[in-house]
Amino acid sequence: MPHGVLTVAYIASAILFIFSLGGLSNQQSARRGNVYGILGMIIAVLATGGYVSGAFDGAADVTLSQEGYGVLAGAIGIGAIIGAVMAARVAMTSMPELVAILHSFVGLAAVLVGISSYLHAGIPVPEGEETIHEIEIFLDVFIGAITFTGSVIAFLKLRGSMSGNPLILPARHLLNLGMLVACVYLGYRFVGVPDHGGTVPLLIMTVVSGIIGIHLVMAIGGADMPVVVSMLNSYSGWAAAAAGFMLKNDLLIITGALVGSSGAILSYIMCAAMNRSFISVILGGFGTDGGGSSSGVTREYGEATEISVQDTVAALQDASNIVIVPGYGMAVAQAQHSLSEVVKILRGRNKNVRFAIHPVAGRLPGHMNVLLAEANVPYDIVLEMDELNDDLPETDVVLVIGANDIVNPDALEDPTSPIAGMPVLEVWKSGLVVVFKRSLGTGYAGVQNPLFFKDNTDMLFGDAKKNVDALLTELRQ
Ligand code: NDP
Repeated sequence: MPHGVLTVAYIASAILFIFSLGGLSNQQSARRGNVYGILGMIIAVLATGGYVSGAFDGAADVTLSQEGYGVLAGAIGIGAIIGAVMAARVAMTSMPELVAILHSFVGLAAVLVGISSYLHAGIPVPEGEETIHEIEIFLDVFIGAITFTGSVIAFLKLRGSMSGNPLILPARHLLNLGMLVACVYLGYRFVGVPDHGGTVPLLIMTVVSGIIGIHLVMAIGGADMPVVVSMLNSYSGWAAAAAGFMLKNDLLIITGALVGSSGAILSYIMCAAMNRSFISVILGGFGTDGGGSSSGVTREYGEATEISVQDTVAALQDASNIVIVPGYGMAVAQAQHSLSEVVKILRGRNKNVRFAIHPVAGRLPGHMNVLLAEANVPYDIVLEMDELNDDLPETDVVLVIGANDIVNPDALEDPTSPIAGMPVLEVWKSGLVVVFKRSLGTGYAGVQNPLFFKDNTDMLFGDAKKNVDALLTELRQ
């Protein structure tokens, strides 16, 4: 097999990855996008495996021994099984944790491959390019270590194993700057030293950049976690791209750049949705514990009024324009399928029913869209926050299903609120708001929500699935 086959395979994979990203940009084509991604990865793994096995006419700079090839196949097989089991078992509500821990693997791989390439150069380095190669190794390990430790902290925070409160150390920006300067100095000591003499500076830099990763993510509060997840996604891409340069692997460079830049664009979109600048997210300190406690809930807000399922149905019967705002609680309760049935009945009765999706609803970007698509809700009635906010004053009834932070008026009205400035769905401007949740407890950002105490808001307490089921039964009668 000629060496050119490898190039063609890599180009095909790269094109499939680009198609995959294009497909993932909307619900209708997301499944197809996933298939392209899987195909691209299969081709990439087979081509690389064939290359190092010497199948391409011995064109590889290094070829694996029979034994090495067995180890490679075993590692891929075990990794694939673990990945498949984890992905099949994970609940949609735990998806952000899974994504965070997977990013940490990319970071760890970059660190290990970087250090091992330094200690034992698998790829021959052309004469005169040694310095460039060492800089590539250094950058790869630096970005990889930050990604690894930052992702582990994000995983622990999202999982609730660690407080979501931002860690605000005195002079923390100075501390970060100091560590960065130390890494630059270690880089200076690392490059150009013969006979692996740079091993000690490289290892010290690995530890220091690991601490930078921990400190960066520890300083970020619960309310900014969505941006952190997409930011770490971006870092993991850049770590892979740096590894691509180091290993002279064009496909890894392309793939890393695709992941890095798409993660950066997503972070930018999330920042815009939360009205936060990227820099202020990185500098941290915004938001409180992500645990969501329900203590002290009624203090200066007055009394919340309750509504029954029957009265909710009566309000829906009288309404012409209905908006549904799903949130994290809908995902927890798995209420989307029953909700989809409710929507079918209401639309069958000539009511204008639409879903309003906040960009950070749930626990990962696109969380609500995925759940609604799974429940076969027609795409054309699922609208973004910006497309629907202006219509809310003309809306008769808004059903808020397990959402909280994304409909909090304090974000707009109270400059001292931890979520001040975050754009929200202004549901209180509609005729009637019915909130489906179990208590008056707070959401992810841990801040109280005055919406629940407004005159035109009624609470339908209880598990969202149970109440949507009851609504469905009542509507069917
Ligand atoms: P919230 O976390 O603000 O609120 C969810 C509400 O759902 C809770 O207040 C809870 O109230 C209710 N709930 C939980 N279980 C049930 C159930 N079984 N039945 C009914 N209600 C239930 O969610 P939102 O979607 O409004 O906002 C998302 C938040 O998550 C934002 O703060 C965002 O910044 C953050 N975030 C988003 C990420 C993303 O990428 N989208 C990633 C990480 C964080 P109760 O206990 O009273 O039932």
